[in-house]
Amino acid sequence: MKNKLGFQTSFSLKAYNTFGIDVRAAYFASPRSIGEMQELCHLVPDFKRLLVLGGGSNVLLVGDFPGYVIHPIFQRIEVLEENADRCLWRVEAGVNWHFLVSYSLQQGWQGLENLALIPGSVGAAPIQNIGAYGIEIAEFIYAVEGLDLSSFQLLTLPKQACEFGYRDSIFKKALKNKFIVTAIILELFRNRQPNTEYSTLKQELEKMKASPYSTQDVFEAVCRIRRRKLPDPATVGNAGSFFKNPEIDFKHYTLLKEKHPDLVAFALPGKRYKIAAGWLIEKCGWKGRAIGGAAVHPHHALVLVNKKDATGHEILRLAEAIEKDVYENFGITLEREVNVIEGNSF
Ligand SMILES: Cc1cc2nc3c(=O)[nH]c(=O)nc-3n(C[C@H](O)[C@H](O)[C@H](O)COP(=O)(O)OP(=O)(O)OC[C@H]3O[C@@H](n4cnc5c(N)ncnc54)[C@H](O)[C@@H]3O)c2cc1C
Repeated sequence: MKNKLGFQTSFSLKAYNTFGIDVRAAYFASPRSIGEMQELCHLVPDFKRLLVLGGGSNVLLVGDFPGYVIHPIFQRIEVLEENADRCLWRVEAGVNWHFLVSYSLQQGWQGLENLALIPGSVGAAPIQNIGAYGIEIAEFIYAVEGLDLSSFQLLTLPKQACEFGYRDSIFKKALKNKFIVTAIILELFRNRQPNTEYSTLKQELEKMKASPYSTQDVFEAVCRIRRRKLPDPATVGNAGSFFKNPEIDFKHYTLLKEKHPDLVAFALPGKRYKIAAGWLIEKCGWKGRAIGGAAVHPHHALVLVNKKDATGHEILRLAEAIEKDVYENFGITLEREVNVIEGNSF
């Protein structure tokens, strides 16, 4: 039902989140242009009650959302600059991420191949600085355009202002609930050597053929790995990795390594270590376990799934139980990668 403000009311979000959680938004709209979205934003009384939803592949909706959901569907792709080696593309928020990766490769531009098959929209890509197989999108972002909700002005933030980090950006911190990404400006290249350093990717490429590897080979290898390894949200509701891989210092790492020689960790600059969150969760015995309809995936301890008609509360309870056990066993606080939207807390 459409109300007079242009928002639909009591709108089911089941098809708009990859966990497949069956909750409702009090108000929902899908603007087809940036101008239409600006008008809708003028109608929102309090931006703390605004949720921007792309593909819903990085959110956990806990309870009905009593506020305003805006689902951008503007989808223009424009070439801003182009020469023989490099181009700048402006891509609007509603474009599907994997479509963009495939399309850019078809047009002969390289860079995004390692990020194939990540679900979701272009508008969400800079929010957590999506990354996979040795690449983060920050590497190719030239600028981010968006609507500043305090001034209602459209702004362009150069890459340096976006404060990109591991699954992090200014949009999750100082600009949270204050800025809606309307488009990203990407810098893509021709004749660029593909990045094949990531060990799983390298192994897959070696299985496929002998080197040298083209960008298309990398794209295909990434698609093959992801199709084989990751649960498809179309068949089992999930939002990919639920937690980030935590970082610890050298002292903490040494203590853990002595106690657990099989600890899975990667050295970082500055004597810090990134610990595989999946290993921590598995060690606590959570792999495959369930709370109600929510479960830890039997093959991926980092992926929580909607096994059968789970509620957002059940998935959240499962996440909290895991966080508690990991802290008690290893002294490590897990940080969530998935954005938990607790609607009923308003
Ligand atoms: C099977 C699976 C595999 C995945 N693999 C990866 C992976 O390899 N690497 C990775 O980084 N991620 C991965 N993800 C997570 C997810 O796909 C990405 O984070 C993706 O960018 C989310 O896009 P979305 O449009 O679905 O965002 P949503 O889930 O709709 O939103 C995510 C967050 O961004 C905010 N947001 C969305 N759009 C905008 C906008 N236009 N302006 C401002 N804020 C906005 C939302 O409010 C929310 O807080 C995976 C998820 C799944 C289900």
